[in-house]
Amino acid sequence: MVNNGISDGASDGASDGISDGISDGVSYATHGWDTAPPADIRPALKGELTCDVAVVGGGYTGMAAALRLAERGADVVVLDSGFCGCGASSRNAGQLSSAPAGDPQLLSTLHPRRFRDIVRLGEGAARFTEEMIGRLGLDCEYEAAGNVGAAISTGQLRKAERNARILRKAGADVGFGGGRELGLPDGFLGGYLERAGGHLDPGKFALGLRAVLLKTSTRVFEESPVGGIYPDSKGVTVTVPRGRLRAERVVLATNAYSRDLAIAPKRMVTPVWTHEVETGPIGRERLEAIGWTSRAGIITQHNLLENYRPTARGTIVFGVRQLRLGRGTVRDREPDRAVVADLVRGFHDRFPSLRDIAPRRAWGGWVAMTPPWLPVAGEAARNVFYAAGYNGHGLAQAPYLGTLLADRLAGGAFHEDLAAVWRARPRFAPTPVANPLTLRAGWATDRLADGLSKRRPHRAAGRSSRH
Ligand SMILES: Cc1cc2nc3c(=O)[nH]c(=O)nc-3n(C[C@H](O)[C@H](O)[C@H](O)COP(=O)(O)OP(=O)(O)OC[C@H]3O[C@@H](n4cnc5c(N)ncnc54)[C@H](O)[C@@H]3O)c2cc1C
Repeated sequence: MVNNGISDGASDGASDGISDGISDGVSYATHGWDTAPPADIRPALKGELTCDVAVVGGGYTGMAAALRLAERGADVVVLDSGFCGCGASSRNAGQLSSAPAGDPQLLSTLHPRRFRDIVRLGEGAARFTEEMIGRLGLDCEYEAAGNVGAAISTGQLRKAERNARILRKAGADVGFGGGRELGLPDGFLGGYLERAGGHLDPGKFALGLRAVLLKTSTRVFEESPVGGIYPDSKGVTVTVPRGRLRAERVVLATNAYSRDLAIAPKRMVTPVWTHEVETGPIGRERLEAIGWTSRAGIITQHNLLENYRPTARGTIVFGVRQLRLGRGTVRDREPDRAVVADLVRGFHDRFPSLRDIAPRRAWGGWVAMTPPWLPVAGEAARNVFYAAGYNGHGLAQAPYLGTLLADRLAGGAFHEDLAAVWRARPRFAPTPVANPLTLRAGWATDRLADGLSKRRPHRAAGRSSRH
């Protein structure tokens, strides 16, 4: 089979529930966590209930919103179709990035007046989430090592330098340096360091948040898929298969899954299925020996990025390179073997001295892309509010915007970072990402550039830094 890098597969690998399979020594899972799912899944909502605020979706956005609303004395109910944290929030790559998602040059061109605000939001989000981890005492292996927009070729190094300039001009706390100075593994030529942020175990972070939430006054109902949200002049009715909830207001925190809910603004999010892989044990000493002394997370400058982060257990988590669109209902899927094989090829290209290291597990999840390539928040319908669409940077931004939205609903300030992404009207233009051809072309161009850079010596490898 030719791996062309993309499918819009309505049928390939979709599955209704959680499953695991082992082939070629790799465990393929539809979920992202390495440990067992929680044993204390909360019972589904049955019958009728009332509350002040119903939070639909218990990922980082929903859990953070519920926590803040409960702190402010609201009577809150959280409904999740699986369990809190079972979506992207436990499946992500674990890189707590402080930069906006997407290419800074493209973003600054698309949003010249708002770009400074978006950069401020990104850094505010990373600092907020770091602080939240400490405040709630979440044991999620957080390492405040920063993240590097890293280059694997001289072309990418030029792009990274340009991005550093654009981000710094907009007020970001980023530095630019060579690979050695930034403590990057051999083969990475350098890049821009986002000083705020770092990386963590997303499953532990999500389940830690869930454990905190369950200790509050919030009523949490899991395995409770919301089918409909119906606002009227006196409030909002939310329906689940065997019950109904009457709320004054609703927070829609379903992110990539929002497409399945009629109340969500049309075209607000495009779900793209993204893969991650974890290696078998490598050991910290060996990672240091290959030059990865800073332990910073890495994001390459490809069109479709590659991400790499060292874990506390001495392995490497890596992913993306390809994105897959899904048609129909947004359901869990098996990781695609061809994509995993492509990711492993990329891993061995970037880390040639680790060719003996085999992948141990692979999983995937839905990332929510938005037409403006920015997170979005607003009022979808009367008393139904949303925050969503972090374009792959929700680890910091989802807890932050969920909290800021909760503050606003509880009568607090309309924070400037929430205002920066607030939509006056719930209308969205079609997104360019929704096109399989664009994604296919991005992947093909990346592989062409990789091939060319292998043939050319890296002239800039020893270049000095300008912080
Ligand atoms: C593979 C992958 C890698 C990523 N890597 C990174 C990264 O390194 N750094 C980063 O910053 N971001 C990353 N992200 C993005 C980040 O994980 C998300 O932006 C973030 O988790 C979004 O949180 P959320 O709460 O908005 O959505 P989710 O965590 O997806 O939560 C939505 C919740 O809604 C529930 N739900 C859906 N429909 C319904 C319904 N009808 N009724 C009730 N409940 C419903 C779901 O069960 C789910 O729990 C990655 C994402 C993926 C998938």
